[in-house]
Amino acid sequence: MRDKKTDRPDASAASRRPATLVTLAGRDPAAHNGFVNTPIYRGSTVLFPSVAAIETLDQPYTYGTKGTPTTRALESAWSEIAGAADTVLVPSGLAAIDLALLTATHAGAHALVVDSAYQPTRTFCETILKRFGVTTQYYDPLIGADIAQLIRPETTAIVLESPGSQTMEIQDVPAIAAAAHEKGVCVILDNTWATPLFFAPHRHGVDLAIEAGTKYLSGHADLLIGLVSANAHWAKKLRATFNAFAIGAGPDDAALALRGLRTMHLRLRAQEQAALEIAHWLATRPEVSRVLHPALPDHPGHPLWRRDFNGASGVFSIVLKPVSKTAVAAFVDGLELFGIGFSWGGYESLILPFDCASYRTATVWSPEGPTLRLSIGLEDVEDLKADLASGLARLGA
Ligand SMILES: *Cc1c(COP(=O)(O)O)cnc(C)c1O
Repeated sequence: MRDKKTDRPDASAASRRPATLVTLAGRDPAAHNGFVNTPIYRGSTVLFPSVAAIETLDQPYTYGTKGTPTTRALESAWSEIAGAADTVLVPSGLAAIDLALLTATHAGAHALVVDSAYQPTRTFCETILKRFGVTTQYYDPLIGADIAQLIRPETTAIVLESPGSQTMEIQDVPAIAAAAHEKGVCVILDNTWATPLFFAPHRHGVDLAIEAGTKYLSGHADLLIGLVSANAHWAKKLRATFNAFAIGAGPDDAALALRGLRTMHLRLRAQEQAALEIAHWLATRPEVSRVLHPALPDHPGHPLWRRDFNGASGVFSIVLKPVSKTAVAAFVDGLELFGIGFSWGGYESLILPFDCASYRTATVWSPEGPTLRLSIGLEDVEDLKADLASGLARLGA
């Protein structure tokens, strides 16, 4: 809830626990005739009562691109949950990354991007940013405080993603943020895997945090939305960049995201539990060489995960022992409960073979066998295990 006078989260909200916060955040029933949820406001034009009023723009809403009560409800809810000063909504997670990078770079600037970043982040850097005179350098996700050695006078942004897309490396976010801030560099984190419920981005030194709300915030594979939250230092600059583009998310999408928000903590905990059980079980299987899950004690990033995270979501990867491509296809194609497709974080389980060897440049990715990413949904764990067990049996057939 917001304090009506200051439009800031009221003091009591700050002490509320996450499950309570997600039920309260971004709601103001009294402002909507008592209805529990903020209605869907569709609109471009907002009317002003007078010439004087339109000259000063002195009212909460001025034009559709600047937001509606529906989009603002999600923005303020997310700011509270992420511990941010402000949040903007865009039509996809990738658009959120792009907007953050455009907020923190300029012609002649240098950006440091983690080698394990979501691949389209790299594409944006290699195409649009490059065309506007920004150079990108990729760095080892395990670099930690040594990032200081890569920061140049013209470096303006460091992009992190933890765990890394597909390969699940955990980054030392506070150490990298400290090195960045010593040189006035903006720290951008793609926090989609953990969400602010499992990793509090701004408390760990992140300036701009990205969430592909398409994943766990939606939770139902029926929505594309991206969020960028900013700390107090970057909030104004983020909002100005957002206003210049006017690429907001629509009110219907914001309402769907708000609906997802109310159960996100329950889905995350259930998917965490199920994914952990399946990850532990896969680690015992003779067909599996390694399980890449940061909550498993033998994961190299486990100590950092324990130190910084409040939980693990339902996405992790596995490295199989060497087998043919045909065998992997037999494993995956025959699964009945795991769909094959992009994205993740929905109620339905997904599996995807991946190979990031071709585009990593700062590190070498050469696993001992084929690699697969799993997104565990809300199905019964025993059913999922049985499906995977028959799939693993097909590897040897
Ligand atoms: C899916 C994903 C995105 C992009 O989200 P879209 O809404 O699909 O554009 C960004 N970052 C990460 C880590 C993702 O997994």
